[in-house]
Amino acid sequence: MKIVCAWCLKEGKPGLMGEMEPKHDPTVSHGICPEHRLQVEAELIRTAEEAERFRKEAEDLRRKVDP
Ligand SMILES: [Zn+2]
Repeated sequence: MKIVCAWCLKEGKPGLMGEMEPKHDPTVSHGICPEHRLQVEAELIRTAEEAERFRKEAEDLRRKVDP
């Protein structure tokens, strides 16, 4: 069974991370390589920060409308 990085596949890279027993099993399991894990985590942090910023803006607006 092969383990490949789904993100690498999307970029057209082989993304092979390793093999697991049984090796004759042609099943491909999808994972994420350390490089793409960092990218995805950075993206999540950025999204969370943006959501927090929007929340604060919405709160400010509400205070202006209804103090
Ligand atoms: Zn990858």
